[in-house]
Amino acid sequence: MMLIYSSEDEIKKRENAFAIIDDIVSKKGRNYLFDLTGLSGGFIVSDKDLSLLETYVGPAIFEKELQKQGKIHLGGEKVFAVNRTSSGILATILSLVKENSHVIHFLPELPSHPSIPRSCKLVNAQYEEFDNIDNFKILDNTSLIVITGSTMDHKVISEDIFLKIINIAKEKDIIVLVDDASGARLRTSIFKQKRAWDLGADLVITSTDKLMNGPRGGLIAGKENLINKIKAKANEFGLEAQPPSIIAMVNGLKDYTGDNLINAISRKDELLKILENKYSMFKATPTGVMIDENGLKKELDNFINDFDISNKDLSFIFAMILLKKEGIITIPAVSMPGASTTIRFDLSTNDSKSIELDDLYKKINSSFKELTDLVSNEDKCREFLFNH
Ligand SMILES: *Cc1c(COP(=O)(O)O)cnc(C)c1O
Repeated sequence: MMLIYSSEDEIKKRENAFAIIDDIVSKKGRNYLFDLTGLSGGFIVSDKDLSLLETYVGPAIFEKELQKQGKIHLGGEKVFAVNRTSSGILATILSLVKENSHVIHFLPELPSHPSIPRSCKLVNAQYEEFDNIDNFKILDNTSLIVITGSTMDHKVISEDIFLKIINIAKEKDIIVLVDDASGARLRTSIFKQKRAWDLGADLVITSTDKLMNGPRGGLIAGKENLINKIKAKANEFGLEAQPPSIIAMVNGLKDYTGDNLINAISRKDELLKILENKYSMFKATPTGVMIDENGLKKELDNFINDFDISNKDLSFIFAMILLKKEGIITIPAVSMPGASTTIRFDLSTNDSKSIELDDLYKKINSSFKELTDLVSNEDKCREFLFNH
């Protein structure tokens, strides 16, 4: 039985999550919500920034600052701000990939972010993906190689493999785009790897709200001639970021240090220890803990076995219980269609600092109990997903 099986269903679930969030904030207050997504969606702007926004003066100034801060963060000869990482990936593929050519994607662990195969489909390119370097090969007529630095579930590539792929690409003179949505910070601050540009990438894109206090948006950096092509295509289709986002990106980049991420490491070890007293479904991520859909199913099987719901749905339902009952926001509750169903509790987020680990444990525990109680009742599950 699948309760969520189309992008439209995912949007309905997301709208429901927003209604629940709104309900909690208006009835109890913002303090009753704990955004542990790691997509902090910070929006730092000053009154001066706001007054400049009202004219074309502001955007001109922000653009200059963006070039400066963007190059500090990502490297490259030029940067360009896009509406989302997905839009940047789309603009890149629309402008650099030819019909019927191959796009080869290497990532440390499947699944890939859906924006890459979906964009390839739009231009009728042949998309191939690999998560094992031994099988990785470049076919004739390849127009783009994509490397994911850190996956949606925060699995990070090794620098050796990264360099190996860059070398293969250079030998064949093929453009390399690095999808470093979270990796631009995770790889560098926690794993002490070099920036994608410094490792030889032609283009790198990051998400300005992942593991930093910036708005939802994408920032792409790289060789100037490529950025110019991507920018032209993005402008044709309206994929670029708008000035209010750009100023918040600039301020988010200025605000970023790796400290939050580094501090999360010891807390996550502590949380994992508490959780492992009772559960076997939790795994460590670089800055928190997570449950994937298969782990969740296995754990549930220890408690109850008369239910017929897909593993993906279990993840969505658990995320909605965590939100509605305990105010904990995780990605599967609020995600975009096709995003990972892994439930991550990210301890580098601002909200995680206002909750004791024992309390977080209690909240997770009682939500799991609720899940075991309702999972055999399809109507109840549907209600949690779609009707706040
Ligand atoms: C989050 C993410 C994206 C997409 O970011 P959006 O801002 O949602 O478009 C792409 N690739 C990876 C690896 C991601 O983690």
